[in-house]
This record gives sequence, C-alpha cells and structure tokens, in this order.
Amino acid sequence: MSKIEGKIAVITGATGGIGFAVAKRLGKDGYTVILNGIEDDKGLKAVEELAADGITAEYYGFDITNDEEVTKNISEIGEKYGKIDALINNAGGIGVRARFEEMTTAEYKFVMGLNLDSVFFASRAAIPFLKKGENASIINYTSNAAWNGAGPGAGIYATSKGGVQSITRALAKDLAEYNIRVNAVSPGTIDTPFHAQIKATKPEVFASWKNSVLLGRLGEPEEVAGVVAFLVSDDASFITAETIQIGGGQALGI
Ligand code: NAD
Repeated sequence: MSKIEGKIAVITGATGGIGFAVAKRLGKDGYTVILNGIEDDKGLKAVEELAADGITAEYYGFDITNDEEVTKNISEIGEKYGKIDALINNAGGIGVRARFEEMTTAEYKFVMGLNLDSVFFASRAAIPFLKKGENASIINYTSNAAWNGAGPGAGIYATSKGGVQSITRALAKDLAEYNIRVNAVSPGTIDTPFHAQIKATKPEVFASWKNSVLLGRLGEPEEVAGVVAFLVSDDASFITAETIQIGGGQALGI
C-alpha cells in the first residue's frame, strides 16, 4: 500500500493495549497520530516509541468521560490540524464488576460513561473537523458481550457496548450526508492489559479461554489494528454502519 500523506487520526485510550497498536499501525501507514489517555507518563513514552519508528505522533492527556475536557481537547486538535480524518473511539473497559442488584448508581454511571458517553462526547466534538476530512470516518468498539450479556458482574459492560452498537448505526445515518462513515469493530478475547487482573489472579481460567475460540488462541492487538486500518482506508469507502467481528470464530460459541 502506498503511504498516506497528511491524514490525521485521533485514537482515544491509546497509551497501551489495542489503542497503541492502532496508533502504531496508522502511523506506519502514514497518518499523523494523536494519542489520548489518562496515564501521561505512558502517553509520553508511547509517543517517543512511535517517533523512534519515524511516526509523527502527539499525546493529549484528558479524561474521555469528561464532557468539557473532551470538547476542549478535540477542538484544539481539530483547530491545530484543520481537520480530522479518522476518530478511533478505542478507550473503554469493564470498569466495575458487580451484579445488578448490588450495583451502585455511581458504578452504573462510571461504566456507561467510560464506554458509551465517551463515544458520544468524542464524536460530537470531532464532527465539525471530520466534515473537513478526506474519506473521514469514525471507528467504535463493541464486544461479543453486547450480544451475549457478558459473564457474571460484567452485565453493565455488556449494556454499555450494546449502546455502542446502536450509536454506531445512528451516527452512520446522521453523518452519511457528509460522506462520514461510521463503523465498529467487535474484538473477541484479545491479549491486552484489559485482562491483566484475571491473568494474574486466575491464570488457569485465562489459559482456558482459548478453548472457546475456533482458531484455538487469543487475538493480538495488531490483529484488531489491521482491521481498523482497513476500515478507515479508501478500500473501505463504501462501508458504513457495519460491525466487523475479530474473534477467531469465538462468536460461534463452541
Ligand atoms: P486496555 O485496558 O488495554 O486499554 C484501554 C485504554 O483506555 C488504556 O490505555 C486506558 O488507560 C485508557 N482509558 C481508560 N479510561 C480512560 C479515560 N477515562 N480516558 C481516556 N483513556 C482511558 O484495553 P484494550 O483491550 O486495549 O481495549 C480497547 C477497547 O477494545 C475497549 O473499548 C474494550 O472495551 C474493547 N474490547 C477489548 C477486548 C479485549 O479482549 N481486550 C474485547 C472486546 C472489546
């Protein structure tokens, strides 16, 4: 593939895990990559690592669940570069494990804020700049959990990702007239810090997860990044309102 010149990608939650792999991949493809996160030390190291690879990268530390911070920072980025070509709404996570009966309102709001409000805040702020982009698009992240309701205690994560599934289609309808495409990826179990706690406390459970994957292994962050790179590219110029599963056949539920 020829190098992409002058394109700007904003990736939320990009200081580690899948988000960092996406930043690296888009950076190698020629994008200027703007990494967001809340761990500033990791963010600055990530930018250094990308720069060493010849990638133009910048770090913006802000909390994706804070409406005002998101609007201020994304507007700053948009003004600085004059446009945004790709917004990758990657930040998200389990947040809290609690059964619904015991879940506090604060816990509920935290998980919905991290996975769903964040997509709304970042997308709304980016739309004026995506309108100035070229084959501009938004990528959201849903999960198998949105279909199957997730494991015990992760029901609210599932609920929030169900919302991401819907907002992907709703945004696609809303933005089609501007030729802004909106798609989602649905990673299966990908080996990232997302699973750090279970990997450390219940390694046998973590090791057994691969048995439910048709391809017999967990996914790597780079395998999600490759699909994101395709979805934002000109090769995907007629794809919108779509969700691509990246789970090695895990969704079949073997
Ligand atoms: P991760 O925990 O490794 O990374 C999440 C990133 O988001 C971290 O860098 C974290 O610092 C950042 N973050 C957390 N709260 C934030 C906030 N308030 N503001 C800004 N950044 C914040 O997780 P990951 O596996 O890389 O997951 C990336 C996305 O993929 C998430 O949306 C997740 O729900 C989704 N996903 C992951 C898996 C998986 O198995 N890893 C499966 C399905 C979906």
